[in-house]
Amino acid sequence: MQRGQHLLALTTDHQHILRGPAADEASARLTDFHHRTGFAGSVVTDPHRLRRVLARHDPEVYPGTYVTCVFNPDKALCRPRAAPDGHRAVPAPSECRPVECHNVALTADNTTALAGHADLLDHRLQTRPTPPTLLHADLVRNRRAR
Ligand code: SF4
Repeated sequence: MQRGQHLLALTTDHQHILRGPAADEASARLTDFHHRTGFAGSVVTDPHRLRRVLARHDPEVYPGTYVTCVFNPDKALCRPRAAPDGHRAVPAPSECRPVECHNVALTADNTTALAGHADLLDHRLQTRPTPPTLLHADLVRNRRAR
């Protein structure tokens, strides 16, 4: 339900202009989703209808802090897992590779969050004394992914 409301906001709120490799696909899916809900704007006037449309015509767009995942399991660089209903795969955001994955679309908020996280990692990598080897390697790997 919360994701459905967020998706409606993405289709109607002009602050959420998407960029990135999957931006066009996201726009197409979200426009289709918005038409199917039949709502004039982003205000949900019928939560049951939104649930039904989401269950039948899920655009498989997953808004997140760092990326907006426009999910296509064939292109996913994370390891998609089965949805709670067992019928379809869903992305694994904890394994997201935002710099490499072609399923990535970015809102302005995503870009800001990614840049902030990269700054944080840079700061930790410059801290002296250097962190223990495994932690340092993990930070470097994480920084490359951002
Ligand atoms: S790697 Fe990230 S963007 Fe790509 S499918 Fe997985 S969660 Fe989505």
